[in-house]
Amino acid sequence: MFENGTCLCGQVPFLFAAAVLLVYPHINQDDGVSNMQYAFDIGGSKIEFGVFSDDGDILLHSKTPTPKDNLDAFVAVISDVLGEVDHEFGVRPDIGISFAGGVDPKNGAVISANIPAIKGWSLASELSTILSRKVLVENDADCFALAEAMSGAAKDARTVFAIILGTGVGGGIVVDGKFIGGKSGVRGEWGHGNDVTGTLIRSGLAPVTCGCGQTGCLDAWGGARGLENIHAQISGNRITSFDITDAWRAGDVHAARSIEIYCELVARELALMVNVLDPDCVPVGGGIASEHVLIAQIDEVVRKRVLGRYDVPLVVPGVYASDGGLRGAAMLHLADSDRL
Ligand SMILES: [Zn+2]
Repeated sequence: MFENGTCLCGQVPFLFAAAVLLVYPHINQDDGVSNMQYAFDIGGSKIEFGVFSDDGDILLHSKTPTPKDNLDAFVAVISDVLGEVDHEFGVRPDIGISFAGGVDPKNGAVISANIPAIKGWSLASELSTILSRKVLVENDADCFALAEAMSGAAKDARTVFAIILGTGVGGGIVVDGKFIGGKSGVRGEWGHGNDVTGTLIRSGLAPVTCGCGQTGCLDAWGGARGLENIHAQISGNRITSFDITDAWRAGDVHAARSIEIYCELVARELALMVNVLDPDCVPVGGGIASEHVLIAQIDEVVRKRVLGRYDVPLVVPGVYASDGGLRGAAMLHLADSDRL
């Protein structure tokens, strides 16, 4: 499952029983780092914190277990981390937060989060009051898209549709450095509402119910868990996504068939999104992004299926495939003006 400490689903092994601050020893208050960005990436298992310089260098990085069910403990984690770094650097920067959920544009309440403690809570405004500084909050896939658009694989691109192939499927859209959409607070979710049942049946696979309650969503098949489910049905052998791609590269027949079906499922739905958005670039994040040959295969199928002509690779591994949420959160202030 794990390679170099990271799973194909993009999750890092969780080794932290308490807040662990990793202060880079060469950074101190005398280095002249005056304009820094604070960023949090809040996930279901851990809260990552990063301090970035204006040049995008990460000056400090920490990980803390997420208090999923206790709001007071959740706020305490954020406050404690900030108290330490404010003291360390002698500054009080604003904060950008990425998290796996949406924000209701009407009242700022967190929706569809996998952290019950903050569900329904006005994360940005409440934290802003508690911490006495500006707090910007966005979905983690949106943050990844912003990071790729600002300085990653889609740098200088006008229209960016960044996708996450991690545990499941996600996406974020950035046009001219701004997020688009915002009526409901849920956007870029191209992994839900699909019906991939036809491809499943043609491939000899049995449909499953998605976590959202519908049947036929790509989300159930387009991430690392989906690849594992495909392989389990094809071979009768349940192994990790990492082992599947390993076996694929080694020429295993079942793994090759699983990858072929996986590419077909992802590329069909992605081709529709490309037809709609006509993006300049589709950077891929999440654990699957580390499989560059697989991404190139998806790109090839997508460019064959779309109506437009794209002479160079469109679907490419993201530069920030593993830390785009945190990095994008640090860039939220750049996209803050004229936001929807
Ligand atoms: Zn769904």
